[in-house]
Amino acid sequence: MAKSTKTGKYVYFFGNKKADGNGSMKALLGGKGANLAEMTRIGLPVPPGFTITTEVCTHYYANRKTYPAALWDQVKKSVAAMETILGKRFGDNEKPLLVAVRSGARDSMPGMMDTILNLGLNDQTVVALEKLSGNARFAWDCYRRFIQMYGDVVMGVQKAPSEDHDPFEVVIDTLKEQLFKGEKHVEDTRLDAKQMQELVKRFKALIKERTGKEFPTDPWKQLEGAVGAVFSSWMNDRAIVYRRKYNIPTEWGTAVNVQSMVFGNTGNASGSGVAFTRDPATGEKVFYGEFLINAQGEDVVAGVRTPKPVAELAKVMPDAFKELERIRGVLESHFRDVQDFEFTIEEGKVFMLQTRNGKRTGLAAVRFAVEMEKEKLISWEEAILRVPAEQLDQVLAPVFDRGAIKAAKSIAKGLPAGPGAATGKIYFNADRAVEGARKGEKVLLVRVETSPEDLRGMIAAEGILTARGGVSSHAALVARQMGKVCVCGASALHVDYAARTLSVGDTHLKEGDFLSIDGTSGDVYVGELKTAPSEVIQVLINKSLDGKDSRTYQNYAALMKWCAKATRMDVRTNADSPEQAANAVGFGAVGIGLCRTEHMFFEGNRIDSMREMILAENIDDRKKALAKLLPYQREDFIGIFKELKGLPATIRFLDPPLHEFLPHQGSEQEDLAKKLGIDAKKIAQRVHDLHEFNPMLGHRGCRLGIVYPEISEMQARAVFEAAAAVQAKGIKVKPEIMIPLVGFPKELQLQIEVVNRVAAEVAKEKKTKFNYLVGTMIEIPRAALVAHEIAKDAQFFSFGTNDLTQTCLGMSRDDSGSFLPKYQELEIVKQNPFATIDQAGVGKLMQIAVELGRKTRPDIKLGICGEHGGEPSSVKFCHRIGLAYVSCSPFRVPIARLAAAQAALEEKKGKKK
Ligand code: ADP
Ligand code: MG
Ligand code: MG
Repeated sequence: MAKSTKTGKYVYFFGNKKADGNGSMKALLGGKGANLAEMTRIGLPVPPGFTITTEVCTHYYANRKTYPAALWDQVKKSVAAMETILGKRFGDNEKPLLVAVRSGARDSMPGMMDTILNLGLNDQTVVALEKLSGNARFAWDCYRRFIQMYGDVVMGVQKAPSEDHDPFEVVIDTLKEQLFKGEKHVEDTRLDAKQMQELVKRFKALIKERTGKEFPTDPWKQLEGAVGAVFSSWMNDRAIVYRRKYNIPTEWGTAVNVQSMVFGNTGNASGSGVAFTRDPATGEKVFYGEFLINAQGEDVVAGVRTPKPVAELAKVMPDAFKELERIRGVLESHFRDVQDFEFTIEEGKVFMLQTRNGKRTGLAAVRFAVEMEKEKLISWEEAILRVPAEQLDQVLAPVFDRGAIKAAKSIAKGLPAGPGAATGKIYFNADRAVEGARKGEKVLLVRVETSPEDLRGMIAAEGILTARGGVSSHAALVARQMGKVCVCGASALHVDYAARTLSVGDTHLKEGDFLSIDGTSGDVYVGELKTAPSEVIQVLINKSLDGKDSRTYQNYAALMKWCAKATRMDVRTNADSPEQAANAVGFGAVGIGLCRTEHMFFEGNRIDSMREMILAENIDDRKKALAKLLPYQREDFIGIFKELKGLPATIRFLDPPLHEFLPHQGSEQEDLAKKLGIDAKKIAQRVHDLHEFNPMLGHRGCRLGIVYPEISEMQARAVFEAAAAVQAKGIKVKPEIMIPLVGFPKELQLQIEVVNRVAAEVAKEKKTKFNYLVGTMIEIPRAALVAHEIAKDAQFFSFGTNDLTQTCLGMSRDDSGSFLPKYQELEIVKQNPFATIDQAGVGKLMQIAVELGRKTRPDIKLGICGEHGGEPSSVKFCHRIGLAYVSCSPFRVPIARLAAAQAALEEKKGKKK
């Protein structure tokens, strides 16, 4: 980047099989620009043009929205080069060159940035275009589209918050109403040249009325305005919301592509479309996409006309279809990944306007990866790297229960655009959907079609349903990327925004009624349908489906098998019950990394004994109460050990402050008093005594076991008696006892003494031996800083990154909701530190602890058991700092396994470089 600043090259040309840039230059040229250059180089038919670099965007914002001095000269030279290739001139009154001005950031941001087509038209050049093409309707259609797009994007004539429709569309609808009285859904193709001319007049009037300005006639002024608008759109609300959701840094900026126009709207031998080299929803290897005859640009994705599946091109334009099939093959073998591309057919000739790696559902990602490996297009290692770990979530997402579907009535069918099952209350407007979700409702966003303004509502919704638009409509695109369930183009639905109703035949629903949508089949059902677990879960966990009968499972299994081959780190699970442990083992966990014993004290009437223990006034009473808890706890451990069949189990001793176990309400305190036969006042008093100003930093963790060693003693006894019982059955047991919240070496020593003493006692009583470890959590900064001291006694460290984050940042997780969103907005923190490890701060403490701990005890076992252990980028971080395992909740085990394998492969790749 620095290099090109020095050379002052701001504009990169492409055309005639040559290009200044190439596909690897996405940072500088944006994704679209880099791939336009790459496609040009490999000889695909790309209309010539040039890319203004992302550096110019950075310059623009750093210098009060101005451009580098050399920019416009370079633009003029490139326009001249286009003119030479095409034999046309920009602004010429005989052979006018028209251009598209297109944004293009490094990562594609669907629907975020706006494109302007047919730029260069004015009252003179439109006449030239008319003569040149011999097609008046086409020329005026181009002109009215240009005014519409330019008026919207550059001059800001847009739908006001109070309006339900775009003002230009209102003008079109009014004209259609005048021309075709009473007819619904009149297609634009029915408007003739005269009527297009009328639209031009009315559009100009609309712009004048809303802005007080005339529409610019000088093509160079138009170009300048359009380039500025693309750069400005980098900072519009929609773009900011999107970047925040996907953690795209503001500094990246966008590029601008200026490209000569090709026309899909010259008549029935023309058209435009979007396609995928394979099906991005299911992953099937079929040519997938859609097109519209006699259409330009965004018509296909706008959802205004419903497009036709690309396969039908074979009938109407067989030659163009053959050419597209050829291009499909070239794209896959060149880019070695599924491509999402845009094309235009002008009088039978195919032009490529864009290609990029196709966004895909989790289901498709896995299938693409596995099948492309089989086709020898990619290696098994690449296959692993191809599936974003987070997306495995979708493969594990629920589907509708087969029985429930049979019993339900499908009221409409749309296109299955985002697989999975979703059910919720319907909302017809994004803001109200967000409001509903905020109240904790499950919501479905139902729209005639969606636009970028609906993004917030789409994020809030379980699923999205539209009445219009195809599989590449805005709704489908966004849903696919967010992994939302989506059904689009369910044309039988009549949505009335004003009345807030949805009707199909004689079914009428109001906002707030329940609806269910199946994004795998496209069906829409009335009411709240029962869901069933994903096929992977049916095979692995419920064992209700044979793996042989499920392609989804088989692809998943192939991927996991490769992961096992690639990985260095183990994945364990956080589980407190035999059932959770069994689920996690089913997903491939190799042990428990965190068993929270306190959860066990809440079940059934154990809580009473727990409370009795807390209320005890002397050690004898406390021991009596603890004796009642012992058998419960022992039984829990027996269950877990049996389920683990010899896999290790890290068991954390009691951690939360005691007041969490006591009832805080008067009436509950009275109930308890009756049960225990004591005075309610005594309970109230004890609650009062135990009250803490800051319980997160109070009497908790090992501080409990230090003050009340008998609690640790009981827990140790439960562990070892359970181990003895299970060992007696011939099952191996590997307990790893973990002392929480240690900061001082002495704390750990005192607790280890208790554990070792009890272990010896039980071993003697039961005439057996135990294979166990005692270690500690590293969850307060002091522990990390004196890790070399602590490692003298600790046989393992497990990073408790929930508390380590709270204590390192001095930020209470439970109270962060009031300011953290603002922090993220201002990019003080790029990510929520309670979800993704703060590598610079918390991560630094972890690295220190790893280093110091290993100095004392080179073979010390290192792991992580915080919530972060199931978050892909944190998992990768753990790999890089050399942990032996991560531990996460059972249903995130597959995600962690994939991330761990990816980390190992990325490390290998890095070493090669
Ligand atoms: P987006 O980033 O939203 O996909 P694009 O810049 O790709 O925006 O433009 C949207 C649509 O405009 C394209 O899909 C294509 O149909 C049309 N388009 C873009 N450039 C040209 C061009 N040079 N000639 C004809 N149509 C174009
Ligand atoms: Mg767009
Ligand atoms: Mg595009």
